Parts: sequence; C-alpha cells; structure tokens
Amino acid sequence: MPSVLTHAAVAVAGGIALAPREVPHHFWPLAILCATVADADVLGFSFDIPYHHFFGHRGFFHSPFWGLLLSLCLTAVFFRDVRVFSAPWGFYFFFFFFLAASHGILDALTDGGLGIALLSPFDNQRHFFPWTPIQVAPLRVEAFFSPRGWSVFKSELLWIWLPAFMLLGLARIIRMVVARH
Ligand SMILES: [Zn+2]
Repeated sequence: MPSVLTHAAVAVAGGIALAPREVPHHFWPLAILCATVADADVLGFSFDIPYHHFFGHRGFFHSPFWGLLLSLCLTAVFFRDVRVFSAPWGFYFFFFFFLAASHGILDALTDGGLGIALLSPFDNQRHFFPWTPIQVAPLRVEAFFSPRGWSVFKSELLWIWLPAFMLLGLARIIRMVVARH
C-alpha cells in the first residue's frame, strides 16, 4: 500500500479540486475515510485471516465493487436530505466511489506484497498493473520512521502527491477561467 497519509492526500486534493464551494463539514472526514478505510483489512491478520483470503489484506475491501457499496451507503446515510439522482447527489456518490476505487488502483501500482483483488467479489485473483513505480509501504507503523520509510515516501511524493497537486492546480485554473466568462 502507499501510506495512509498519501491516500488521505488524494482525498483532500480531489475534494479541493472538484467539490462544490459549499459542502457540509462531514464531507471531508467521509472523503478521507473512503480513500483510506480499505487498509483496515490489515486487522484481519490479528484474526488469522490469511493475506490471500477473500477478506485478507488487499482482498475484497480493496475492490471497486466495495467502493460502490461504501459510496452508496455513505450517500444514503449522510446525505439523505439530498434528492436522489440530483446533481449534488451524483457528485457525492461518484466522488466517494472514485476515492474508494482509487485506493486499490494506487495499491496496484506498488512494487510489493500480494496483488489487489480488483475484480472481487467476481474473481478473487490478485492483480498488479504492468507498471509499478510506487514503492510498497511497510505494514508496520514503526517501519515508516526508518530509511526505508523515507524512501517509500519519496516515491509516493513523486508518483502520487505531485500528479494530484498538479491536477488540483489545473482544476483551479479551469474554475477561475470558467468563473470569469
Ligand atoms: Zn491498501
């Protein structure tokens, strides 16, 4: 996995770039939750769920299908005042789905561990993309504060933070141009 901090940064950059100006306060913690919660599946190790299991680390909870369910639930529970299929509802639904799906997709660009069950629950096979430029982050928190942790974070800065904030800048410019016309 890229580190939790990096997944959260994708949520924040995406929110600043794409969200309407007026969003409720709970939008931000929910966005970060969508981008990061997949890695809660590491708790499975404590319950003897093996890595390669359907519910193992990088299994079902890293799939876009799970992202779809999560997004539907969050939109239904936390945005029930928003009319279903209206434009704001569509934004929340697709944005949360995009963030949850981004987690497994970014993990599939890392260079270690087992692959990601991107097609779960229909196919439990684990996948990586053919190109894996992001160094895999250690599972143990202590390992982040080591030379290896710093090396991992540098690869995340280059391959995730930099493109995310470039897209954010581009989105801001487009918004400014649109607002002027
Ligand atoms: Zn992950």
